[in-house]
Amino acid sequence: MKIESRLAQIGSVKEPVTGAVNFPIYPSTAFRHPRVGQSTGFDYIRTKSPTRAVLEEAAAELEAGDAGFACSSGMAALQTVFALFRQGDHLLVSLDLYGGTYRLLERIMNRFGVSASYVDTNDLDAMASAATPATKAVLIETPTNPLMMITDLARVCAWARDRGMLSIVDNTLLTPFFQRPLELGADIVVHSATKYLGGHNDVLAGLIITKGAELSEEMAMLHNSIGAVLGPQDSWLLMRGMKTLALRMERHQYNATRIAAFLQTHEAIEQVYYPGLPDHPGHDIQQRQSSGNTGIFSFRLKDARYVDPVLRHIKLIAFAESLGGVESLMTYPAVQTHADIPEEIRRRIGVDDRLLRFSVGIEHCDDLIDDLAGALAEAQRELAKGE
Ligand SMILES: *Cc1c(COP(=O)(O)O)cnc(C)c1O
Repeated sequence: MKIESRLAQIGSVKEPVTGAVNFPIYPSTAFRHPRVGQSTGFDYIRTKSPTRAVLEEAAAELEAGDAGFACSSGMAALQTVFALFRQGDHLLVSLDLYGGTYRLLERIMNRFGVSASYVDTNDLDAMASAATPATKAVLIETPTNPLMMITDLARVCAWARDRGMLSIVDNTLLTPFFQRPLELGADIVVHSATKYLGGHNDVLAGLIITKGAELSEEMAMLHNSIGAVLGPQDSWLLMRGMKTLALRMERHQYNATRIAAFLQTHEAIEQVYYPGLPDHPGHDIQQRQSSGNTGIFSFRLKDARYVDPVLRHIKLIAFAESLGGVESLMTYPAVQTHADIPEEIRRRIGVDDRLLRFSVGIEHCDDLIDDLAGALAEAQRELAKGE
């Protein structure tokens, strides 16, 4: 079956007693045993719970993996994955990285002796020179956020496999609807399901999907032992969001493509970073390895003094910190999502004080363009008046 059908049908035939089309929320933390040595398959909620199990099975199936693990947030998913490593291990990590992941590595994982080098994961020479005998894994975001750098997943995953390293891909921005890294050679996929998978800015959740029996077993042990698991209510809410993922991603992509093209021609904009635009440096790789483009992009204003008035004058678009929901949000990465990344790294990758990130919602794109055009005109007027 096509992915649209599988998404719409998540959990729909899983409840045999009543035939409920919508799989119920089981809040129970404990499960009765028929007799000694027997179990219904459920013992204690942290290890396995019915509502979460339906979500986890769907997640594994959608990402073409062997096992899925639902976590209390995207960061909880990443921390659970990082628990695979031990003192002395080293990771190669995408340069333009989600700020929270950078903080987890640099402020917590390094206390446990796990270190990371930040490299352009599309540059195999840079990867080879940053790798050491202790390098155990590559962690990739593609596209990266906010600068939308694209990594050739098949190429880098093969490179890592040849060297005995695991490939971990944060697939938050594209979701399995547009990109399935495990099919391209990755070993582990992680998601902040808070973003597109949930899709409505109303649930915090993370997912891990693993390939291979041994790795899946190890991850099950870590997931249960660490305990940063997703509760039944949030598991249900996430599945409810995922049922409409196909429709939402198509609309996010359509809107983002139209609005990115509009901004590209605007006189107050210096550059637009969107892999869906033909002149984006990663455009060809992105079109080859995924079936569509994300709904977020970044753009650099010509003057840093435009930032404040633009953020003050947008009305439909909210100045807020997240992405992937039905509502449009605008973020100022240098002071919000990426504030924890040292200025030197930020400057090197181009997250500067003129860069704004736009998570395009599913509103009508003409309304979004009007809102942006109006705010940009106000900003230009204010600046002209001030000078
Ligand atoms: C938001 C995000 C995370 C963290 O997820 P939370 O659900 O906020 O904990 C990790 N990676 C990426 C790419 C994200 O956008």
